[in-house]
Amino acid sequence: MEIKIALAGNPNSGKTTLFNSLTGSNQYVGNWPGVTVEKKEGHLKGHKNVIIQDLPGIYSLSPYTLEEVVARSYLVNERPDVILNIIDGTNIERNLYLTTQLIELGIPVVVAINMMDLVRKKGDVIDTRKLGEALGCQVVEISALKGEGGIKAAEKAVGLAEKKHYGELPKVFNGEVERALGNIENLVHNKVEEGYLRWYSIKLFERDEKVIEKLKLDSVTMKQLENYIKECEDALDDDSESIITNQRYVYISEVVGKNVKKKAEKGTLSVSDKIDQIVTNRVLALPIFAVIMFLIYSIAMGPWKISIGTMGTDFANDVIFGEWVPGLVDTALNSLGVSGWLYGLIQDGIVAGVGAVLGFVPQMLVLFFLLAILEDVGYMARVAFIMDRIFRRFGLSGKSFIPMLVATGCGVPGIMASRTIEQERDRKMTIITTGFIPCGAKMPIIGLFAGAIFGGSAWVATSAFFIGIAAVIISGIVLKKFKAFAGHPAPFVMELPSYHVPSMGNVLRATWERGWSFIKRAGTIILLSSIILWFLQGYGFTNGAFGPVEDNNSSLLAVVGNAVAWIFAPLGWLGDMAWKATVATVTGLIAKEEVVMTFGTLYHYAGELSEEGEEIWNLVRGDFGAVTAYSFMIFNLLCAPCFAAMGAIKREMNNGKWTAFAIGYMCLFAYVISMIVYQIGGLFTGEASFGVGTVAAVVLLAGLLYLLFRKGYQPGKDEKGSLAVEGK
Ligand code: GDP
Ligand code: MG
Repeated sequence: MEIKIALAGNPNSGKTTLFNSLTGSNQYVGNWPGVTVEKKEGHLKGHKNVIIQDLPGIYSLSPYTLEEVVARSYLVNERPDVILNIIDGTNIERNLYLTTQLIELGIPVVVAINMMDLVRKKGDVIDTRKLGEALGCQVVEISALKGEGGIKAAEKAVGLAEKKHYGELPKVFNGEVERALGNIENLVHNKVEEGYLRWYSIKLFERDEKVIEKLKLDSVTMKQLENYIKECEDALDDDSESIITNQRYVYISEVVGKNVKKKAEKGTLSVSDKIDQIVTNRVLALPIFAVIMFLIYSIAMGPWKISIGTMGTDFANDVIFGEWVPGLVDTALNSLGVSGWLYGLIQDGIVAGVGAVLGFVPQMLVLFFLLAILEDVGYMARVAFIMDRIFRRFGLSGKSFIPMLVATGCGVPGIMASRTIEQERDRKMTIITTGFIPCGAKMPIIGLFAGAIFGGSAWVATSAFFIGIAAVIISGIVLKKFKAFAGHPAPFVMELPSYHVPSMGNVLRATWERGWSFIKRAGTIILLSSIILWFLQGYGFTNGAFGPVEDNNSSLLAVVGNAVAWIFAPLGWLGDMAWKATVATVTGLIAKEEVVMTFGTLYHYAGELSEEGEEIWNLVRGDFGAVTAYSFMIFNLLCAPCFAAMGAIKREMNNGKWTAFAIGYMCLFAYVISMIVYQIGGLFTGEASFGVGTVAAVVLLAGLLYLLFRKGYQPGKDEKGSLAVEGK
């Protein structure tokens, strides 16, 4: 028989950590709410028939946020055999609020009090046996991080599921409310399964619309229901939902008071609080964030001597993919005696193209490693908090920053994480702008230009990150002034977890997960594209006859590329590089790594084997001026994301027109910014000369400034935040 255990609990209570240790899987542990929106499944180690579900983190079973809806509909409709409720022992009152609701579902519950290592350190003592008796369920102590007690808790849950044991309901509500609930239970008892009777009666008492809709009550029953509710509301002089909430809290504080001995809190600030006073300081927060990002990019992609990442990448480019691999391949192919074209395909197409991408793996791993540390330490949660202050000024909340943080790894989960934003217009805007953040696949582009053209400048790399954020903010300000996006931001409630020493397991897991998906793509889609690209750039018409061409500037690809390249002429893509830059941009839509792969393949035609690693970048440098290179980089970072991310946009928008708008907007925005950079910046370096282009760029800049500073649409009173959050 199959047993389903649902892991439920507040955000940041340690569900994913426990899930990973119970199932041996490698899920991403994010230190902010909303990362786990979709539920994930795994088998309990050593128990083939036990499935564990990691549900999104929730504070309550009300239907107000997307996480709540996902978790609630799973619990109510799919009925797991048992719920393993993870609660954060350092925040026991708040966590038990959900527990009281889970118990009412009529599904057996095991409460696992997590973070016991911290609880013990604080000196608190929990009487689990008595707490369990009071709540009517089993209570165990665990530490998911230290691997203590998790398995035992899961086995206890399995035992309960097998016995089909239901605990007795705790006495949460007082007489008045109990009477109303009893009446409601009688009213609907033939409409719902027995185990769920209590849950439904409470939800009906709270006038939960989803439940009312689902039960399809007739008007007589509805009227009777309303009478019961009203009677109780009048007696207690409060609305029904608040009555339930208040009584839950009263009950919880009573239970906790009896069964948890807390060591008296000292009046001084904890170390975490002291750090936060500086790190989230109104004035210092942003400069500190910028310095931290600069250091990270310096270590990951900066100039040679201080940068571990660059050392690795130089080694990979110059030695591994510059000498060793081509040398080995050369020996192997020669001894096999393959024909010239096959040699060319493998050496100049695949090795050069895929190698160019893989060469950036060291930089990328270092970058991801450092970002993962920041995240696990708890700093990124502060960044969301800092960003909330900035975003709020133009009407977005810090909630929108969370998808963007996720997008530093990959835009697809980033865009998906926007589901946690309840307000539709803010969600749409987040979906549109999340793609601006440089994801892992864009790293090689940044690495290529920062390294090859700007000599490993950490400024260029850091600026790429902040250009992404600036693009979000500028777009936010501009779009918020249109009626479709206008409105006040939803409140952003987020707990800042206390800082802790990063767990190497978590950090390495996050690094590896991001790095591996990159390497996998290099071996599949990038490999395939490099083969196709090699053919396209190696063949063409010479004197009317189709065949291999000497110089890829006369290849079929060059002809097609040049036919389209005029579009990008205002961005400074001129001369021999125009078609190459165009092709790179278009292939970048397949996956952003393809931009670098394309350069690797297209600049490799010389065919000489010595020191290519260096050669390619020298050739690229010869073709791009500094401002042109910078503008090209910006365009590729900001324009339409890869197809996978476009697919994610389509899924999340669930609407063709909005998808088209999002992609169109990104392309247009990228074009305008790159053009302004090239046309105006180029005047200073002599790459652009004064002319129509300059005038057009100035007009566009003026237009952008106008959109930024004009007075926008003002939302009326009734258009304040969403119903779900502010209306209640
Ligand atoms: P989720 O949001 O419920 O999935 O929680 P996570 O599994 O992402 O954990 C949130 C944070 O709490 C992570 O930084 C974990 O490393 C940390 N954490 C989880 N369990 C424990 C524990 O038992 N002790 C300590 N000290 N930290 C923990
Ligand atoms: Mg999680």
